[in-house]
Amino acid sequence: MKNNNLKIIAEKEGISLKELKERIKRGEVVILKNKRREIIGCAVGKSLTTKVNANIGTSPEICDIENELKKLRAAEEAGADTIMDLSTGGDLDEIRKILISEAKIPIGSVPIYQLPYEAKKNNKSFVELKEKDFLKVIEKHFIDGIDFATIHCGINKKVLKILYKKKRICGIVSRGGSLVVEWMKYNNKENPLYEYFDDILAMAKEYDVCLSLGDGLRPGSILDATDEPQIFELLVLGELQERAREKGVKVMIEGPGHIPLNHIYVNILLEKIICNNAPFYVLGPLVSDIGLPYDHFVAGIGGALAAYYGADFLCYVTPSEHLGLPTVEDVREGVIIAKLAAHIADIAKGIKKAVEIDKELSLARARLDFEKMINLAINPQKAKEIYERYRIKKEYCTMCGEFCALKKSKELLKKE
Ligand code: SF4
Repeated sequence: MKNNNLKIIAEKEGISLKELKERIKRGEVVILKNKRREIIGCAVGKSLTTKVNANIGTSPEICDIENELKKLRAAEEAGADTIMDLSTGGDLDEIRKILISEAKIPIGSVPIYQLPYEAKKNNKSFVELKEKDFLKVIEKHFIDGIDFATIHCGINKKVLKILYKKKRICGIVSRGGSLVVEWMKYNNKENPLYEYFDDILAMAKEYDVCLSLGDGLRPGSILDATDEPQIFELLVLGELQERAREKGVKVMIEGPGHIPLNHIYVNILLEKIICNNAPFYVLGPLVSDIGLPYDHFVAGIGGALAAYYGADFLCYVTPSEHLGLPTVEDVREGVIIAKLAAHIADIAKGIKKAVEIDKELSLARARLDFEKMINLAINPQKAKEIYERYRIKKEYCTMCGEFCALKKSKELLKKE
């Protein structure tokens, strides 16, 4: 990677170039950037600002590339650090290429989502595909310029045995995980993503792609959280990340999922110990199962605590989670809540930039400088709309009106 790009990233993160390089060398920080893409890249990892990903993409039922492009723009405008193309409907190669060419930020994918599409093109069932087809589809994504890819390589035969013994409420909720298990069961063979991991490493190295080792058995109910299948899969991911490091391949680990608030600390600690401090990318986490259609808030609460304890990368959740494909507005809302969760954690972690923004806003609030407050807000447009809804006087808002405590406080605390 160009030294100049690293310099820009280090400046943005407020650390020295030397420190950034050392963290990368130790595997604690990864830069999401395929060598074929002309972007700066995004750094994810230890003691950096917490990053946020937004999932977009078509489904077999709803497939409109123009709408997905609107979602991409909404995610970028709202401050997403990365997006993932999780398309499963329409011409997947075409959609991916368009999104890569339009995205200004790193873009990830889950290559095996494409396998049923490839099988259908050849009038086959997905389970009839061969191991080499798994590898081919991964390479195709890397060649196209995907910057990071989820690889569900942690479900091997041993882990599957543990899953069969366990009576889970929600079984397998990862789309990629369910595809892998379906293929393994039908073919009575080892998971190709596990068995041919060295081939995947060689491809990732060639294109400088970061492998995001997927948690195919992440819990889908808080009552399944931190159970044996989840932990045994994490142990496999720990071994695989070591192999990736030995080969000089960038790697991060994916994590839950549905877990109660009191499981967050132990989940982060386990990942950091088992995976040698590799960056941790969590989905949510969702700390209750009843949040729909407010799962983005549930994930915001979980995400803030997870990031505070050491998760490095939050995958957003939208109001449509568990209910349907998100709209453009859902994408915007989801990114804003996840950014807020990341920011809340960054303040508590003492990240200078985060603390300074809050200080600036507090000073503006004390001065009753609404324009400044609104400009610094996480969603200035919505903040402005609310402020102007009933505005009658400029020096205070309509919440307390003439009884504005801040206004009074200025006078009360004036030095005699
Ligand atoms: S009117 Fe009340 S809510 Fe509004 S700025 Fe003053 S103290 Fe704050």
